[in-house]
Amino acid sequence: MAVPKQRIYLDYNASSPIHPKVADAVGVALNTHGNASSVHADGRAMKSVIEKAREAIAGAVGVSSQTITFASGGTEANYGVITGLKASLVELNVLGSSIEHPSVLAHIPVVNRVRVKDDGLVDLDDLRKVLTDQTTPFVFCLMLANNETGVVQPVAEVSSLVHDFGGLVLCDAVQGLGKLPLDLPAIGADFYAFSGHKIGAPQGTGCVINPGMYEIGPWLPGGGQERGKRSGTENVPGIVGFGAAAELVADQSDAYFDGSMRDRFEAELLAARPDAVIVGQQASRIPNTTNISIPGLRSDRQVIKLDLSGFSVSAGSACSSGKVEPSHVLIGMGLPQEITESAIRISFGPSTEWDDLERFVEEWSKL
Ligand code: PLP
Repeated sequence: MAVPKQRIYLDYNASSPIHPKVADAVGVALNTHGNASSVHADGRAMKSVIEKAREAIAGAVGVSSQTITFASGGTEANYGVITGLKASLVELNVLGSSIEHPSVLAHIPVVNRVRVKDDGLVDLDDLRKVLTDQTTPFVFCLMLANNETGVVQPVAEVSSLVHDFGGLVLCDAVQGLGKLPLDLPAIGADFYAFSGHKIGAPQGTGCVINPGMYEIGPWLPGGGQERGKRSGTENVPGIVGFGAAAELVADQSDAYFDGSMRDRFEAELLAARPDAVIVGQQASRIPNTTNISIPGLRSDRQVIKLDLSGFSVSAGSACSSGKVEPSHVLIGMGLPQEITESAIRISFGPSTEWDDLERFVEEWSKL
């Protein structure tokens, strides 16, 4: 008889467990040595494993490997694009939706933030008004999928609109990889940010993808690695792990994440507690994320009780101190306080079984 799991991890959007095949690939890389910039055979071998990983990531999202610049994660990838653009376009104005990840929002003045509607989608009327007002070069930042609600933004439509107004588009696609089939040329943004640890690679890996090879200045000047954009000796084990995880993503069948497990899960949650509200349910969402509120029951209390019962889930955005702040995403959607203060996020992944979700429903319904 199978032994029930001691703990059930339902926080994949925060970080996903490392896949055993990825761990094996990283192990091999950790046991090799050399600096990819060295001309000798050991250096060349390191260079070649980096390029193999670059090819795997490119293949998973339909771009040429030449368009990929490795970075330390999604935060650096977002920073790199904006800082690199500022280095080449002096008067750059940075705009974006009001529900971007903090690593993007940190670069967007409050007056440059475009509203989202109560379904979590960017307000295209507000966007048009903001675009009409632009008089200097600008970049508009729009995430592919929101980390808290899972709502998927119409990035292709927005990219085409922004281009009509002469601007550039940065798409933070961190939560899209592995959860949506991705064809970056069809989406049409100028830059994308990705993070390895959301797809089963080690933490501290990520990349910028620049499909149009738009020339941006370096964001980490120095020894000239990564075609001069991002200097520093490469994190080879991390890059190898990212490449191995991207290969698994590329092999994932389209039916793998079709949303049916989430829909069944949400139906059971609502059947157990009809007073609960699923945030963003009307919009198209990534298939692994449910943001649910029990009005009147504070999120942090829910998270702690669930933790004590063996379930790892999140509330709002957990900042580095571990303190739970009210969610700027739910506030940005204009949701009432009784919902914003009582929402939790459940995000699952490839190793989650239906039994895990059923056990969650049983425990959650007792809160
Ligand atoms: N962008 C989004 C949408 C995210 O969800 C995250 C991480 O949660 C990041 C950026 C930052 O990525 P990283 O943790 O790799 O710096």
